[in-house]
Amino acid sequence: MSRKIALYAGYLFDGEKLSKDVTVLIEGEKVTKVEKGFIEPDGYEFIDKREHFAFPAFVDTHTHSAMTGMRGLADDLPLMEWLNKYIFPVELKLVDRDFINTFFPLALVEMIHSGIGTFADMYFFQDKAALWVKKAGLRAVLAEGVIDFGTPNKKGVEEQLSFVKEFIENFKKDDNVIPAIGPHAPYTCSPDLLKKSWEIAEKYDVPYLIHVSETEDEVEIILKKYGKRPVIHLKDIGVLGPRVVSAHSVHLSDEEMEIFKEKEVGVSHNPQSNMKLASGIAPLKKYIDMGIKVSVGTDGTASNNNLDFIDELRSASLLQKVFTKDPTALPAELTLKIGTKGGAEVLGLRDVGEIKAGFSADIAVLNLSSSNLVPVYNPVSHLIYAASAQNIDTLIVKGKVIMEDFEIKTLDEYAIKEKAKRYSQKIKEVVNEG
Ligand SMILES: [Zn+2]
Repeated sequence: MSRKIALYAGYLFDGEKLSKDVTVLIEGEKVTKVEKGFIEPDGYEFIDKREHFAFPAFVDTHTHSAMTGMRGLADDLPLMEWLNKYIFPVELKLVDRDFINTFFPLALVEMIHSGIGTFADMYFFQDKAALWVKKAGLRAVLAEGVIDFGTPNKKGVEEQLSFVKEFIENFKKDDNVIPAIGPHAPYTCSPDLLKKSWEIAEKYDVPYLIHVSETEDEVEIILKKYGKRPVIHLKDIGVLGPRVVSAHSVHLSDEEMEIFKEKEVGVSHNPQSNMKLASGIAPLKKYIDMGIKVSVGTDGTASNNNLDFIDELRSASLLQKVFTKDPTALPAELTLKIGTKGGAEVLGLRDVGEIKAGFSADIAVLNLSSSNLVPVYNPVSHLIYAASAQNIDTLIVKGKVIMEDFEIKTLDEYAIKEKAKRYSQKIKEVVNEG
């Protein structure tokens, strides 16, 4: 018999509109009904959230989860120096299955507290990460990273590609994990590797995650090397289509934007990472006005430095206002839609991102009783402009209660944090040696 939950919420945003005083009925993994008023039907587990605001769980479309192990390790540096001097060397020396086992679940704990129900990750040893996603009960697109100079998982390009194939085959039918491939970027992947990765994505019908035009430097590198801008380069290789999740995409020419629109490429906007690494401001409002699919991602915690998705959405909204000098740009409700339904669209998930009959029961609940959220005139405004991850008190994903009253049910938060603290000693040693 499938599990039944009745969730009563003081306020609900279903993906389109805000209502007051609503009960959401859940059966198994799906929402079966959304009814006005307080209903307590027989045979249902009842969750009372009257002083709360329920909304579709967030969809974080770009992160490198296990980088929680490098949070605060190297800050205040330009992207290329940060990557080449700190991140890539530490990754090659230290990232192994044990590292993933330590820091991937730490990210999951943080994401659950933040109300993230679905996320897209680009990293290594995704076969290991996948087991944690299942244990946590979240939904994740896990892209195994591939890169010319080798990854911590596999050195040679052919070895990397055969690992990805095996990983996809093993998880293609999984309930929680959507396996994928993640060629790092056009400046770290040869046209041949980009193309071979694309062939795998097409063959298995899985997402293709890539960093595109994060900085002006990167655009210059590609221009020098190939005589064209990054998106034109990718188009000419033949690796653009609706399955592409293009992270950052800060510096696109008008022609490149048109290509993204025409090829239905989805953008993952990472405002805090872009601010911290001074990469620039992606013209998100322009992308939206043009009809390009957009979503929001936290990026890894080495460049953010947290997975607080509310904080990320607030940054997205405020940054567009500054960029366009227009306070009406990216209003609260649109920002919330981009962080939920927008993310689901970019990841190709049809029944995610709304709280409606037939949709996956993925619901986050904001506690409105904290001092930073009193009084309530509009809970959507509070969520985007006043709240933080600390105010998320309950998370349901695929009809399963993952966190209730701030307590995570599926993972041992204390043990995960303690293990991460112990492991960080090893990382300090490696950095000091270097
Ligand atoms: Zn990234």
